[in-house]
Order: sequence, then structure tokens, then C-alpha cells
Amino acid sequence: MALYVQKFGGTSVGSIERINAVADIVAKAKAEGHQVVVVSSAMSGETDRLINLAKEVQSPIDSREYSSMVSTGEQVAIALIAMALKARGLNAKSMLGHQVPITTSDDHKKARIQSVGKENINSLLESDVIPVIAGFQGVNAQGDVTTLGRGGSDTSAVAIAAALGADECQIYTDVDGVYTTDPRVVSRAKRLEQITFEEMLELASLGAKVLQIRSVEFAGKYNVPLRVLSSFNPGSGTLISYEGKPMEDALVSGIAFNRSEAKLTILGVPDTPGVAYQLLGPVSDAGIGIDMIIQNIAADGRTDFTFTVHRDEYQSAMELLQQIANKLGANEVVGDDHIVKISLVGVGMRSHAGIASTMFDVLGREGINIQMISTSEIKISVVVDEKYLELGVRTLHSAFGLDKEADEETDPL
Ligand code: ADP
Ligand code: ASP
Ligand code: MG
Repeated sequence: MALYVQKFGGTSVGSIERINAVADIVAKAKAEGHQVVVVSSAMSGETDRLINLAKEVQSPIDSREYSSMVSTGEQVAIALIAMALKARGLNAKSMLGHQVPITTSDDHKKARIQSVGKENINSLLESDVIPVIAGFQGVNAQGDVTTLGRGGSDTSAVAIAAALGADECQIYTDVDGVYTTDPRVVSRAKRLEQITFEEMLELASLGAKVLQIRSVEFAGKYNVPLRVLSSFNPGSGTLISYEGKPMEDALVSGIAFNRSEAKLTILGVPDTPGVAYQLLGPVSDAGIGIDMIIQNIAADGRTDFTFTVHRDEYQSAMELLQQIANKLGANEVVGDDHIVKISLVGVGMRSHAGIASTMFDVLGREGINIQMISTSEIKISVVVDEKYLELGVRTLHSAFGLDKEADEETDPL
């Protein structure tokens, strides 16, 4: 007998038909003699719908009320799942974050989980009741509802699995595993049988939204085996663990991309000590996350800085940078919010030179201009115009030998 935490994403609970399919998956694990704790997201589209309602009323949205409202999608889904389980003759009980309790930091919209109370869950399990827990939400010290950031139900599931010492945290979604790249963009992407936490963390951080970044961090920290599976088709999915060996010793395991980047450049800044701080300090102080940074070699005592931010923060970063430019006597501020970042990831890169040059060669041959480059031990990222995203990813996927053969595997979706 094993203990599984089974998490279901939006599409997996997107209709009554899908809720019934979820109940069948849970019932099957129960029939096999396992203990199951269910975690669910909101029905697909619901969180977006709620956020859009809030946007019509207030800008910026009050973060306490934001969480109070957007967390309701999960409440509907868990109650429906509990009903579907009861309809199958199983005992089940839906639980909100505060009923578990899942306690978090204060930051309403991007709260961090601080603790997961095991007692209530364990006593339900002992009485053979299936806990069906709302993902994405928690409660802070004031008793307010908090939310964990978009995609946060993955993190709820992993935190619960870690607290309970579950044998596996199973993330059921609309694709049957983690692929060499998003199978919606590259139809010849291959499913990975297994992947290491380290590689999955890079893929998630670089834009592969199949798992929330924090859920992978958490799973690695507490060594919770994570499995990504489809709630639509049976299969063994992808296991993410420490043991995962790099796929067939591939140099590149996967390709991630991020469509939500924007870049800003400040031209002709006086090149003096402390200038990087004077420029970027106020940007971070304003809560704007900075990703890549490039500083050019100075000429005539002046230099240029380019950095990237999330597209949602482009306008505010631009306004701020213009003020800074005036203060520092820089020449000009320019920007572009039609860029994307494409990244190659693989632990095999550590010991192999030449991957970067192959990447640049492949993109160059397709006429794709590289605007920025950044590298670390197991990844190389480039920024290109958004119109080249699909072409760039597909071409790199083939060039690094990741395409599946025509006769391999079935459709992931
Ligand atoms: P859920 O609603 O179940 O949480 P998400 O939409 O958050 O699902 O994540 C699943 C999606 O992640 C897939 O539909 C797929 O388009 C996307 N995705 C991006 N990169 C990858 C990848 N490397 N492997 C699998 N899926 C990926
Ligand atoms: N429902 C939330 C969202 O759409 C959380 C999740 O799906 O993981 O972001
Ligand atoms: Mg998700």
C-alpha cells in the first residue's frame, strides 16, 4: 500500500465529464489498496475569469481581496470532486486551505507555504475518508486567505506530499508527461521517461509551465518523487527525481521558451563605479524582477545597459528607467516588448563545449538574429524576436537530435 497525493490541473477538472474522470482515477488507486489525498486547481479558465472581473473594478487590484476572490475557483472544484467520489460509494471530504491548515507568509498574491498541518489529513485517512484539498490557497497569520501565484496548485500538492511523507506526488494534467519541449509547439517533441530535479527546475524557470517552479524546488528540497501524468490517457508519465539519469546521455535534454519577456536598454550612461546599482537598484526596489542583464564595453566614458523584465512590467519599468536616465544624464531609453527567450537545458552540457556555437550556427542559418545571450552550467538562453519563436524552437529541436521518429509514440494531447 502506498500513499499518493494526486493533483489535478484546470483542464483535468474543466467539466463535469472531466470531474467524473478524475473520480475514476482516484477510485482506481483506492481499489488497488492505496491511500490517496486529492489536490485540485480551479476548473479551466475560472481563475482567469475571476482575475478579469477584478481588473474591471480596481487597478491595481487590492491583494487581500484578489486572493479572497480568485481562490474561490478551487472551492467549487474540490466540492464537485468530493461529490463525484461519494457518488461512487467512497468517503471524501473537501478541505479549504484554512481547514487543513496550510499556513503561508503574508504576501497575498505570491504567498509562500510555511507549514502544512498533517493531523486533520491523517485522521481522515485513518477513517478511510479521501481528503480533497483546494490547491493554490493558504491562510496567513491574520486568518486571511492567501494565494500562491499562478500555477500554485502544483506547489500545494508537493508541500502536502512532503508533509505527509507520501510515496509519490502525481501531477495529473493535459499532456502525458514532460516533453523535450512543449508538445503544443513542436509536434515531434518526445516524452521523457525520467528527468532530474535540477533539469526540471531549469526547464520550469525558463518557461516550461508544466510545473510551477516552486513546486520543483520544494520537491527537490524534501526529496518528494514527482510524476507528471495525463488525466486523459493512461500511462506512466515522467518521473522527476534525483535518480533520473540524463536522457540517453543527451547533451541537451529539453528546450524551454518564455513568451512573456520584454527588454529595455538605456544608452549612453556615464560609466562610473556604482552605475549598475543606480540603474537597477530602483527597478528591483519597485518589485520588478530583472532577468538577463548586459553591459556593453564603455566608449568615451559612456556605456549601454540592456536588461529583460516580465512583459506585464514593461510599462512601469520603462517609466522608471526614463526617470533614472534623466537623473543620470543618459542619452536615451529604448525598449521592445515583442521578444522571447529560448533556452537549451541539459546536465550533459557541463562536460561539452560547442553546444552554444552549434546553437548560434543553427539560428543564424535560419536568419534568426540573436539579441541577447546568457549561459550557465546547464543552460544557454538567447533572446530573439517573437516572430521566430516556433521556427527557432523547432529547428533547434531537430538540430540537437530531440525529434521523435515518425513511428514513435502516440499523440501526447
Ligand atoms: P494544468 O492546468 O494541468 O496545471 P498547465 O497548463 O499548467 O496544466 O501545464 C500543462 C501544459 O504545459 C501543457 O499543456 C503544455 O502545453 C505545457 N508545456 C510547456 N512545456 C512543456 C514540456 N516541456 N512538457 C510538457 N508540457 C509542457
Ligand atoms: N487555479 C490557479 C491558476 O490558474 C492555480 C493552478 O491552476 O495551479 O493559476
Ligand atoms: Mg499548471
